[in-house]
Amino acid sequence: MPITDLKPLFGDDFKQSPLVIAGPCSAENEAQVMDAANELSAAGIKVFRAGVWKPRTKPGGFEGIGTPALEWLAKVKKQTGMLVATEVATERHVHEALHAGVDAIWIGARTAANPFAVQEIANVLATLPEERRDSLTVLVKNPVNPDLELWIGALERIYGSGIRRLGAIHRGFSSYGKHVYRNPPKWRIPIELHRRLPQLPVICDPSHIGGRRELIGSLAQQALDMNFNGLIIESHCNPDNALSDKEQQITPDVLKFIVHTLVVHKTNSSTESLGLLRQHIDRIDTELIELLAKRMRVSRDIGRYKKEHAMPVVQAGRYNDLMQQRVAEAERLDLSAEFMRNILSVIHEESVRQQLEITSENNQQ
Ligand code: PEP
Ligand code: MN
Repeated sequence: MPITDLKPLFGDDFKQSPLVIAGPCSAENEAQVMDAANELSAAGIKVFRAGVWKPRTKPGGFEGIGTPALEWLAKVKKQTGMLVATEVATERHVHEALHAGVDAIWIGARTAANPFAVQEIANVLATLPEERRDSLTVLVKNPVNPDLELWIGALERIYGSGIRRLGAIHRGFSSYGKHVYRNPPKWRIPIELHRRLPQLPVICDPSHIGGRRELIGSLAQQALDMNFNGLIIESHCNPDNALSDKEQQITPDVLKFIVHTLVVHKTNSSTESLGLLRQHIDRIDTELIELLAKRMRVSRDIGRYKKEHAMPVVQAGRYNDLMQQRVAEAERLDLSAEFMRNILSVIHEESVRQQLEITSENNQQ
């Protein structure tokens, strides 16, 4: 389903550049919510976020206050005039959040990975009175796994329910093992999303990508440099005592400082798209170089093996098989056979050169 005729997020008259959605990871109690909202509103934030239902990896953690917290969001809206947003994962969440008058809902990364859950939410949205559906903003976080099609599928399901104030949130992708980032950003995925759905606003969530306070500022700037449409940042008046995601929450003061020091680019859209595509190419080239270096390392390991087993460096049969198989693979991806043959022969030549070097090193010993 092509996602084409979208309306601006948060209503036709809403304007903020860059868009910054901020608020605590979780609504913990009324005072915590109101303090954060008042300070953020004073800092110029126009959209307030707070998690009411929290999807936790393991049982026993703080799973959110649930329904009673919705009243605090309604109070934020009334007292500060900010728009309010919360995460929904089930049909009941949608009903309750809308009943409390939220302006925006977002689908979390774990839910976005589950087509049944997304469809359930879409089905409820489809039954809303037209006016309510027209005014509601829905943001879809990327699924926890780096699967662009699944992300687009979730967006299409929501779009299919008639929602037109639709956006995506890039919050990085889960991965096993230790990394600088809590959820590595894999920027080429949101960039490809933008290429596929150029009309769709994409908001960056540096809090969940970074997972650490000190990374938020630079990630936020990187996102603006890559022409993301906005940011969603977790903010808590007393982050060290937050009940969830305390390492990544920043105070409203720090948030204000970060937002004010961000360099906002004002280029026309054709330059933006070109810049985006060039950044994409730059990243792909870096990956190609890394892959080539990796291939040569493996090739040298093979060289050492051949030497130990007194095998010749060049084995015509193997080279022939490899060439045929790679050319067929390349053709399936619409690359020309001649182009592939040229590239492979240059790579193979370098591989042979490196293996011969190893052979001669060993001979000299
Ligand atoms: C959140 O925004 O607090 C949240 C739970 O995010 P995610 O779904 O990206 O983990
Ligand atoms: Mn969080």
